[in-house]
Amino acid sequence: MMQTAVNVLTIAQGAWLKALETAKVIVDATSGAGKDTLFLAQHKRPEAHIYAFDVQPTAMIQTKKTTEDYKEHITYILDSHENINQMIKEKLDLVVFNLGYLPGGDHSITTVPEVTVKAVEKAMDNLAVNGVISIMVYPGHPAGKEESVHLFIMLEELPKEDYSVMKCHLVNHDETAPYLYLIEKVR
Ligand code: SAM
Repeated sequence: MMQTAVNVLTIAQGAWLKALETAKVIVDATSGAGKDTLFLAQHKRPEAHIYAFDVQPTAMIQTKKTTEDYKEHITYILDSHENINQMIKEKLDLVVFNLGYLPGGDHSITTVPEVTVKAVEKAMDNLAVNGVISIMVYPGHPAGKEESVHLFIMLEELPKEDYSVMKCHLVNHDETAPYLYLIEKVR
């Protein structure tokens, strides 16, 4: 039977939809094949703009192809997400990270723990009040496991007066199952 509501991607998309009701500046920090960028483009307000980052030229080609119908609403950036604040000067309303490697692509090109943590911190520096950062984590491969640990160490220290941080995971699945962080800047 198809899993629908109790699914971390569905939970993530629900949070994105809520943020998209008011979001002006939206970032897909790991655009890959462009599926998440497309979802964001299809559900954003007409005046909102999307910035799509990926370091891999082949991924960026795929993102552009997937989102062709929305291209005037998207700035495609072939660069690392750690440069988010150099590339975007406005406050960020929604930032989506889908970590790991591109399915069907080069598995050696994966997000890197130190860079990911730095990029999330940079996104937090410029996050609007009530802005949301969503991070899908894949601890099932070695780099993903390390990334999961680094992120937790950083996120658990965030003052609750400033940020709400939620972790959504399936408690009856293996520890290696993908899970989701949702971070909201509360003041
Ligand atoms: N969101 C994508 C989709 O819907 O198809 C899937 C993303 S895939 C799991 C992760 C992507 O992160 C890969 O395409 C990879 O090239 C990219 N990536 C790795 N390191 C990056 C970095 N430092 N900055 C931006 N993208 C990066």
